[in-house]
Amino acid sequence: MKAIKQLYRIGYGPSSSHTIGPYRIAQYYKKEYPDCDHYRVLLGGSLALTAKGHGTLDIIKRALDCDDISFVFNNESIENNMDITGYHGMEEKITWHGLSLGGGSVSIAEYNVGDDDEVYKENCFDDVKKYLAEHDCDLVTYLYHYEPDLKKHLLECLDVMFQTVEIGLQREGLLNESLKYHRIAKKLNETAKDMNDKLIAYSYAACEENASGGLMCTAPTLGACGILTALMYYLYHDEKQSLDHLCDMLAVAGLFGNCIKQNATIAGSIGGCQAEVGTACAMAAAAIAYHLNGDLRAIEYAAEMGIEHCLGLTCDPVLGYVIIPCIERNAMYILRAFDCANLSLKFKNIKENVISFDSVVNVMNYTGNKLAVELKETSLGGLSLEYHK
Ligand code: SF4
Repeated sequence: MKAIKQLYRIGYGPSSSHTIGPYRIAQYYKKEYPDCDHYRVLLGGSLALTAKGHGTLDIIKRALDCDDISFVFNNESIENNMDITGYHGMEEKITWHGLSLGGGSVSIAEYNVGDDDEVYKENCFDDVKKYLAEHDCDLVTYLYHYEPDLKKHLLECLDVMFQTVEIGLQREGLLNESLKYHRIAKKLNETAKDMNDKLIAYSYAACEENASGGLMCTAPTLGACGILTALMYYLYHDEKQSLDHLCDMLAVAGLFGNCIKQNATIAGSIGGCQAEVGTACAMAAAAIAYHLNGDLRAIEYAAEMGIEHCLGLTCDPVLGYVIIPCIERNAMYILRAFDCANLSLKFKNIKENVISFDSVVNVMNYTGNKLAVELKETSLGGLSLEYHK
C-alpha cells in the first residue's frame, strides 16, 4: 500500500478530485514548461460534467497563473481525464495525459508524480493483522515503523483542520447564489448544547469552508472532509486531547482509508458517495474505537460498520456544487461514526462480526461498479434532477 501521507493532502476546496488533482497536474506542467503563454485543457468524465460547480476551471487558471486557456469538455469519457497542452507563441509543447484518481491523487502518462511508491508491504487489513500477530506489535507502532515521518505530516494536517473550523465558525452570509445556500455553522455553534451539537457545528464549519474554496485537508477526500475534521477539532478544543493522541488517531483512521483506496476507491466519481462519506465514516469509527481503548477486533468492527451501513450511497450533488447533499451528509455521518464505535465496543464478548473489513471493502467496490453513471458525481441523476422540478 502507498503512504498514509498521501491520503491526507492539503489543498484548496471544494473537491479533491476536481480541484487538488487538476491543480497538481497543472502545476507539474507549469514547472516543466514554464514559458507557455496559453494552454488548451481537455477535461473528461466527471471533471467535464461538474467542472463549474466544483471550481475546476478556476483552480487550473490559478495553478497555471494564466487566464488564456481554452477548455474542451468530453462528457462521454468514462475517466476523469485532464489533457493539457501548452503553447509559447506559435510553438506547441507536448500534451500531457493526466488522470484525477480521487482524494487528490493523480497520474500523468508522460511524467512521474511520485504517487506510485509502495510504502507498506501489506495490502489489506487481514495482511496487517497477520503482521501484528507475527511481530507482537500494536497498530500505531506498526504505522510509524513504516512511516517514521508520518506524525510530522499529521501535525500539519491538524493545523489546517483546526484553522478551517475556526474560520468556518466565524463566517456568515450567502455561500452559494444558485442554491440560495446561507452558511449556518456559526448559528449551530452558538446554540450547541452537547457533544453531538458541537460535532455537527464543526462539521458544517469545515464543509462550508470547503465549499467556498478554502484551504483544506482531505480526509480522505474534500467532499467528506467534515467528518474527521469535526472529530479532531472536538477532541482538541472541547476534550483537550493531546496533539500526539490525535496524530495516533489519524494514523489509525488512515490505515483503513488506505486499505479502501488500495482495494476499492475513495472517489465519488468512481464508487459513489459510499466511497467518500462511507470511507470517512469508517475511518472516523476506527479512530473513535481506538480512542475509547477498543482492541483490534473492536477497531476493525467499527470500521466495517462504517462502510456496511453506507453501501449504495449515491453521489448526486445538486448543480454540481459540493453543498447539497454533501454538507448535511458529513454532519450525519460523524454521528454515525460514534454509533459504529460504541456498538463495536458494546458487542465485546457478546457477538463476533461475521463480515470482515476486507470483505465489506470488496462489496463496496462491487456496489460502486454497479451504480449508474448518473449517480457518480455527474449531476445527471438523483437529487440533481429533483432540484430542477
Ligand atoms: S455526494 Fe458525497 S461523494 Fe458526491 S460530492 Fe458530495 S460528498 Fe462527495
